[in-house]
Amino acid sequence: MMLCPVIKKLVSKRVVLASASPRRQEILNCAGLRFEVVPSKFKETLDKASFAAPYEYAVETAKQKALEVANRMNVKDFRPPDIVIGADTVVTVDGLILEKPADKQDAYNMLSRLNGKVHSVFTGVAIIHCSSKDKQLETEVFEFYEETKVKFSDLSEELLWEYIHSGEPMDKAGGYGIQALGGMLVEYVHGDFLNVVGFPLNHFCKKLMELYYPPAKDAMHHEEHDSIPSVETFEILSDEEYESANSTQQNVTNKLEGDSAFSSGAIGSLGKKEIGDSVVKCSGDLENLTKFPSTLVELLDGFKASKAMFVASKLKVFDLLKGKALLKAKDVADHINASVCGTERLLDSCTALQLLRKTNQGYSNTELADKYLVSNSEYSLHGYIMHADDHVWPLFTHLESAVKEGTNQNYRAFGKKAQDLFQDSYYHSMETKLRFMNAMHSIIKLTARDVATAFDLSRFHSACDLGGCTGTLAQVLIQEYPNLKVTVFDLPNVIENVSCFQPTGQDTSRITFTSGDFFKDNIPEADLYILSRVLHDWPDDKIDALLSKISDLCKPGCALLVAEIVLGKEKTGPPRAVLQALSMTEGKQRSSSEYKQLLEKYGFTQVQTKITGNFLDAILGFKKTTHIQ
Ligand code: SAM
Repeated sequence: MMLCPVIKKLVSKRVVLASASPRRQEILNCAGLRFEVVPSKFKETLDKASFAAPYEYAVETAKQKALEVANRMNVKDFRPPDIVIGADTVVTVDGLILEKPADKQDAYNMLSRLNGKVHSVFTGVAIIHCSSKDKQLETEVFEFYEETKVKFSDLSEELLWEYIHSGEPMDKAGGYGIQALGGMLVEYVHGDFLNVVGFPLNHFCKKLMELYYPPAKDAMHHEEHDSIPSVETFEILSDEEYESANSTQQNVTNKLEGDSAFSSGAIGSLGKKEIGDSVVKCSGDLENLTKFPSTLVELLDGFKASKAMFVASKLKVFDLLKGKALLKAKDVADHINASVCGTERLLDSCTALQLLRKTNQGYSNTELADKYLVSNSEYSLHGYIMHADDHVWPLFTHLESAVKEGTNQNYRAFGKKAQDLFQDSYYHSMETKLRFMNAMHSIIKLTARDVATAFDLSRFHSACDLGGCTGTLAQVLIQEYPNLKVTVFDLPNVIENVSCFQPTGQDTSRITFTSGDFFKDNIPEADLYILSRVLHDWPDDKIDALLSKISDLCKPGCALLVAEIVLGKEKTGPPRAVLQALSMTEGKQRSSSEYKQLLEKYGFTQVQTKITGNFLDAILGFKKTTHIQ
């Protein structure tokens, strides 16, 4: 049985576990994951003193283990695996990191330290997505850690030595194995039991959900939304299937969040029955722990986290710490012209949010920040973050009025009444126009490939991307389809600024930019029309005008490709879409069946939806011979 639906998604992928630990293998096997085992040759010799916290050491070691395997396989097998999983478990007590004991005396020293006390077990996990370009390995690293508290009973010397002589402590972090004889030493466990065994399956499943089902199944997050890893996430879904996929994931997430440490035990032979009486005693405490409304608290503080990231982005903190730069709070404060105490608080907050790392030498970016928050990185979300801070944040400040009045709050937020959002609000000055274009550019850059390849578009020779903005989707379309020419159609004040968004060194001769108003002007002829993030902005009468125009121009066999976030049947998710609607214009988000109905109304047939798992989903319909109203 596979409790985590995303594990099914990995079936067609070559997954490698970079660990020789039979316990990790058993945990992942029981979860239904299919993988090869290639033990890492990375020597666990990182300087522990250089890490500010023990989990950082565990995460870094896990990452290095996985990278060593990925690199070795890339060279040896001429092709890297798709995913490499690395893990490292450490035990910490009294500020010391304990790994595997070197000999019996070392095991005794470790167990004596743990005797009668509470200690922490940290497992760092790295999930590495690999691809190879010209035999060069390219990796994308996702990492996390899990902490579990374990309390040892007061144990006699005799019992400790008896346990040591059993031989069990020798290959185990901290010198004990909780899943076997070592379970007898333990009075209680707070947290994920399997984390102590060696692999935090619960957190791992949540992380996979976050990576492969970002907005629908977890608040973005992905942050870390993610670039979307190269795992097949496309599905053709009806509303019902969408809902059931969503609710399965939701159920699993709820279960994982709501259950105590023992929930993961249900997955196999590492379950309850092997935990032992001593551990069961903790259930009362765990019940209390699970009563803590963590979901609510996350919501309560969510706005603080967003604003901290916005401000750090605005002050270009991530640009400063780009690459391997390690800077102290004072250096950062000097560079960004801010107070040292305020900067330190901001940097610590970003560290807590896993955007930065902190060591004795200073702060540095996490991979996530390097990839998405540095303003000139290829997949930077900086433009979108600035738009969110300057435009969306003020609108949300007036959310109460928006709800009471049922209108957008442009006037209250910006002193502008938006008749046409694009003319009056987004583009009212050069600065706001460029900020908006930057925001659109950063999102579509991440999602364009998934939209372009959601369906096989190779039969089309000409496409017209209406409201195509900076032409980013067009760039990906011409890369994917060598016979396709694309016209990007947008308002004049957008087209006049597209030059600063064009890639260097890429042949863009099959892209043409045409300016005009798709409501008032003629639109270019094409076999494929594209509306990416256009429909949700407009009220029904405008949509009617636009789709009628497209339908009239479309010859039989031609098609309309729509890219939007597709809502579930009940329209209560994904959260990104429903939350966006709160501050929106006169338009609305739609479900898969609503898009089908809409496209069919304008003469399109065989309408299919694909949920990409990325920012935008894709809907394609083909023009019928007769136009049915
Ligand atoms: N398609 C791009 C994407 O997915 O990133 C941009 C989407 S953005 C939300 C909407 C785009 O529609 C903007 O580029 C805007 O300038 C353009 N647009 C709005 N009104 C328009 C009109 N009347 N005629 C042509 N383009 C328009």
